[in-house]
Amino acid sequence: MQVRTVRLLGPDGLSAPQEVHVPAANGPDSIDGSGLILSPGWADLHTHLRDPGFPEKETLETGARSAAAGGFTQIVAMANTNPVTDRAELLKKQVERSRRAPIRIAFVGALTFDLQGERLTDARAMKAAGAVALSDDGRHAMNEETLRDGLSRAAATGLSVFVHAQDERLGHTREAEINGIAMAIAALERAPGAHLHLQHVSTREAVDMIADARRRELSITAEVTPHHLTLTEEEVQVAGPLAKVNPPLRTRADCVALRQALINGIIDVIATDHAPHEAAAKRDWQNAAMGICGLETALALVIGLGLPWSVIYRACVLGPRAIIGTTIGDDAILIDPEQQWTVDPAAFHSLGRNTPLRGRTLTGAVRMTICRGRVVHGSEVAVA
Ligand SMILES: [Zn+2]
Ligand SMILES: [Zn+2]
Repeated sequence: MQVRTVRLLGPDGLSAPQEVHVPAANGPDSIDGSGLILSPGWADLHTHLRDPGFPEKETLETGARSAAAGGFTQIVAMANTNPVTDRAELLKKQVERSRRAPIRIAFVGALTFDLQGERLTDARAMKAAGAVALSDDGRHAMNEETLRDGLSRAAATGLSVFVHAQDERLGHTREAEINGIAMAIAALERAPGAHLHLQHVSTREAVDMIADARRRELSITAEVTPHHLTLTEEEVQVAGPLAKVNPPLRTRADCVALRQALINGIIDVIATDHAPHEAAAKRDWQNAAMGICGLETALALVIGLGLPWSVIYRACVLGPRAIIGTTIGDDAILIDPEQQWTVDPAAFHSLGRNTPLRGRTLTGAVRMTICRGRVVHGSEVAVA
């Protein structure tokens, strides 16, 4: 497929308009890319596919289609399924099932059995089965000793540990995140050779702690979600349970600090924490499950931040792949950075409809997604 007069997204930002060839066996011969951006497929380090165990929320198939629609050609699925992905046989089965998906799905293995924070899983077997990292995401039940041992064993196999930093004794407060990060960094300091990746950081204190750990040359990376970059706690007044998420939405000052940290490289990656739920799980605040269905709104939220394109490349293309050790390859997406659209959850490819963004007009849309040499989303781009 020839794409004419298209700007390319790369490490230095956007190129001048040019003609490029994109391998796409089922695509049109030629398209007019005027006004569009051709980017490598985006990668998401943090996705909940709910499969196996919760087919009313999402499946490998619907999650993969949602990712393709959102411009992601690589996603990393978390282990808090039912059963939890805490044994190599289970992980291997997931890897095999995912081969049929339109995009690339990688998996983390749980760090502890049943995410209970007590007994460590077999890092070596997980790695051999295809795990790209270990994580107890959803929980942070382990103590510092267990996390240190987990980091060390993961390091021996070349895997990173992704940590959902939340001192569970402190609920969902800022202090819960701050304490959780302090504990994870303390464990990292005592685990030579290990790599710690902090998931969904949400507070300005977290940014300071990561910057400090970097100054001490610890091997640490961090991610932030599109919703923590763009929405504040005031959203809860408007959207109610649909804005209930863990960690919670914070203040305007936190959003500003997180954006700044992304620009100056203290935070490496934007990750969705895509957390689809059925409507019944989001009815009233008290009982509502936590999470936002995020794959299909992420790109527009990111573009809406007005970040330099080189930062978007680092946070959405290169950074996530560097952490799991995969390469960029030929997967590509066509982005219309000016296209306005209104969020209609009923039109999501995900089974989840849970977003506080319903009815909001966003700018920036995915026009086409190409993975493994095939168009897997959007062929309506005008054929020229
Ligand atoms: Zn989490
Ligand atoms: Zn999560």
